[in-house]
Amino acid sequence: MLHPHTTLRLASPAKGLGIFATQPIPKGTVTWVLDPLDQVITAEQAARVRAGLSTALLAAFDHDYYRLRDGRYILTHDNTRFMNHDCAPNCVHAAADVEIALRDIAAGEELTNDYAGLLDAHEAFACACGAPCCRRWIRPDDVQARPEHWRDAVLSAWSRHLQVEQPLGELLAQSSLGPRRRLRA
Ligand SMILES: [Zn+2]
Repeated sequence: MLHPHTTLRLASPAKGLGIFATQPIPKGTVTWVLDPLDQVITAEQAARVRAGLSTALLAAFDHDYYRLRDGRYILTHDNTRFMNHDCAPNCVHAAADVEIALRDIAAGEELTNDYAGLLDAHEAFACACGAPCCRRWIRPDDVQARPEHWRDAVLSAWSRHLQVEQPLGELLAQSSLGPRRRLRA
């Protein structure tokens, strides 16, 4: 489930739709948690589904499903699939099932994630995010695709998670981070 203080609107003609904050979202806020309405399939099931699809449906699959860091594929039931990539993102996955705000996000700002690490090899794409550090070409073997690349930033954001309002707190408590409430260093 996506943070409730978000809405879907056109990001730009090039990017299409994106997710925007309707209120300020402070650093350390959980912005998305996997929930029971999301459909999760194994990598083997995803391969079987893809093998039977037409070209048009394959494109839909690749847009709408994304791969979790643990190898499973997910179809979210809300607007999460419209999250755009950015080479300087304001959100990142703290775990396969939890995404967190890396910094304060202003009302009206687009929520973004550097999802190189969630791509399959055939999903590499040209990027025009506009960030000064834009890598131009996003690939699943980017250094930024490795969880350890984000480790310090995630730990810094997570250190705030108890001090900020957490509208997704109930789901967070049921997530992989819920029982221990601590990230592995
Ligand atoms: Zn970029």
